[in-house]
Amino acid sequence: MTDIKTLEIFAPVSGKTISIDAVPDPVFAEKTIGDGLSINPTSSVLTAPCDGVIANIHSAHHALTLVTPEGIELLMHIGLDTVMLRGKGLSPKVEKGQAVKKGEELIAFDKDVIEKAGKSLLTEIVITNMDKVKKLTPVIDKDVSVTKDVVLTIDVIVETASSASEGKSGGIETAESWGIEIKNPAGLHARPIAVLVAAAKKFSSDIVMIKGGKEGNAKSLVSVMGLDVKKGDEVRLKAMGTDAVQALKSLIPVVESGLGEDLTKAAVTTSTEKTEEPKVNTKDTDNMFYGVTASPGVAVGVVVQLHDAAIHVDEFGGQPAEEKHKLSEALKEAKHQLEDLYHQTKERTGAEKAAIFLAHQELLDDPELVQSVDALIEQGKSAAFAWQKSINQQAGALANLNNEMLAARANDLNDVGKRVLRILTGKAEEKLVLPENAIVIAQDLSPSDTASLDHDKVVGFCTVKGGAVSHAAILARSLMMPAVSGLSNKILNILNGTHVLLDGRQGFLKVNPTAEEQAAVLRETEEEKRQRDILLKSKDEPAVTTDGVHIEVGGNVGSAYEAKQVVENGGEGVGLLRSEFLFLDRRTAPTEDEQAAVYSEIAETLGKDRNVIIRTLDVGGDKPLSYLPQPMEENPFLGVRGIRLGLRHPDMLRSQVRAIFKAADKTKMRMMFPMLTTLDELLQARQVVLDEQKAFKDVNVEIGIMVEVPAAAVMADILAPHVDFFSIGTNDLTQYTMAMDRGNAELVKQADGLNPAVLRLVKATVDGAERSGKWVGVCGSMASEKEAVPVFIGLGVKELSVPAALIPVIKDQIRKLSIKECQELAASLLKEVTAEAVRQKINTFLNDKK
Ligand code: PEP
Ligand code: MG
Repeated sequence: MTDIKTLEIFAPVSGKTISIDAVPDPVFAEKTIGDGLSINPTSSVLTAPCDGVIANIHSAHHALTLVTPEGIELLMHIGLDTVMLRGKGLSPKVEKGQAVKKGEELIAFDKDVIEKAGKSLLTEIVITNMDKVKKLTPVIDKDVSVTKDVVLTIDVIVETASSASEGKSGGIETAESWGIEIKNPAGLHARPIAVLVAAAKKFSSDIVMIKGGKEGNAKSLVSVMGLDVKKGDEVRLKAMGTDAVQALKSLIPVVESGLGEDLTKAAVTTSTEKTEEPKVNTKDTDNMFYGVTASPGVAVGVVVQLHDAAIHVDEFGGQPAEEKHKLSEALKEAKHQLEDLYHQTKERTGAEKAAIFLAHQELLDDPELVQSVDALIEQGKSAAFAWQKSINQQAGALANLNNEMLAARANDLNDVGKRVLRILTGKAEEKLVLPENAIVIAQDLSPSDTASLDHDKVVGFCTVKGGAVSHAAILARSLMMPAVSGLSNKILNILNGTHVLLDGRQGFLKVNPTAEEQAAVLRETEEEKRQRDILLKSKDEPAVTTDGVHIEVGGNVGSAYEAKQVVENGGEGVGLLRSEFLFLDRRTAPTEDEQAAVYSEIAETLGKDRNVIIRTLDVGGDKPLSYLPQPMEENPFLGVRGIRLGLRHPDMLRSQVRAIFKAADKTKMRMMFPMLTTLDELLQARQVVLDEQKAFKDVNVEIGIMVEVPAAAVMADILAPHVDFFSIGTNDLTQYTMAMDRGNAELVKQADGLNPAVLRLVKATVDGAERSGKWVGVCGSMASEKEAVPVFIGLGVKELSVPAALIPVIKDQIRKLSIKECQELAASLLKEVTAEAVRQKINTFLNDKK
């Protein structure tokens, strides 16, 4: 049960009140922190506007939070951007935890110091827990006197005594963590926050993350993003509800251990989130515009401007219940549309790229967003107005945080916002009629825009906004279409139909290129296509050496979509299915049937005449799973990962093995274990397979291991009797042999897979395997290096697994080699001492063959 109590807040300083919307700082104007007002002060002491307790004082002394007896949290902030003064001209008169009476002095401030530093004096008083507020009435545009005039009237939602005692009997608890230093290299961005949100949602308690005076709902991605938590920031977690203590016990270690991120890495971005310095457009001329590469490649074509028509909405609507119903129907429809878009995009570009539309579905459920819309509807606003305003506020706050990742997410929020708005206002999405060779220009391209364009007609994208991390850029890359972002606004004035040249490698757009320039681009793209077509003609021919030895060439895949590409490129099978794609970026493990369905789809794509090697889950350490929390490891690459993790979670391993068996009759199925190091691990893993096989008597699945740990290579002869094959993972084998992190840019050159030390381990693996009549393949990235191919073949490797697009290239190379010459080359390389000498010899070999 709740009651409403009216609370009056008096002016904390004298001066003229102004609306919070008018404060020239988006964090206040967009109400990211909460609602309230601002005062242009004529007095110079911040004074308690009501009774309360000082919850905290910022270390720069420019802001504090006061909690009233009704539980309202008031943030008072002297001036704008005054944190930069680091306490200069600011003298606190109270301490954290002190109880104060209305009119008591809180912080004295020197207006001259603040003004001389070029800062605004506007002083804000903002309620940071608006969930406790039923109605807020600010007094705007009035001259007010400190502690004499009321500036805010708050209808506070308070628990009645009976509800409080109900709470007690139901065991309502509150719990608060100590300060936790955030060690994530890039602070808390979308991915770690998603892990926090997923973990917090498991509890019924209200949970917030607090940074400085700001609180973010830990169950809301947008809300926590709004905290802009950087590396080194200190945050606290606070929970209130029946399972508050349990919630914090579980969440604190998850936050401390990095929310699924590797805390040891430098602040570099992940491959899909690679940021590039935006280019300064000072080089621009009348017909040349420079931007940032979003997707490589070149194209010539004609301009099609894509402008977003503004959607008009009425501010006031019907009864709140009616408007809420309209909104919930619109949200349902939006979810259906996103579901369809997900499936279409998955078909075209694979599940990973399509996943953005699943994330959009999640945004529709964001509690902070829903709460904000509901509050506006309750105030009499129409569903469309409430939705538009809430989206604008939240997206605006993200876009203003000066963080490229968050700005890209603001784009997602706007995208999903527009979708719902169109449904609410009955404005259907316009289908654009495109000419051939269209180069689309837009202020910004949302993932929905990018996915719904007719890709047969479009040859490139250019945008003013966005960057290499935007989803539009990621989709453009997967569609192999050039794209450039960060271009000048002036490109929006280029007339439709104008001829342009788009260079996604160098990041520019040229208007009216000369006939020669256009011809050169066409020649280049045609030559690339011609070369590829030649190779594609023979893609289905086996890769047989000039002296008659067949080398199987398969593809490495990480999705069902990529499996199709293997077939299209003439792959003889899948040499490595990295099953991680099914497990990462989700809240719970995939079920056995879910896995079986995906493995079956892949198996059917490859058919009964091709091999499919499914590698069991290779996560842990550097690739943690949110639903399988692991203790923080000093050296995750040397920690519990791969099969080590599988054997510690046998239920998960068993369910994956069963899922593989379920799909096995549709192809020639093989499975292999990653990161295997000892015979004992192999025997345990094998036993799991043998146990599970009992229920699948007629199904045959070969068992292999990845050789990516030197111990496994050295002990290959001991391991070989217990496997059907080995597959060498050169990425990890090189890293562990050379003791050089495979992701360390500084060591890239030295961590060479053609180092004689690595080659000797490849030889040991093949020798060990041959003693038991077993075969060896290579699935690490060296398998597709033209310098390495003759060496592996010469060392006795029988199968190479490479990225799908390179299958025709590697097959073509093998057809021009003889085993005899490769053996001679390999034998001579094993005598070399350095990688440089090895490479030199190989280059001489390859040049002689030209
Ligand atoms: C390897 O280590 O070479 C390998 C293929 O495995 P991953 O790259 O997935 O670690
Ligand atoms: Mg590996």
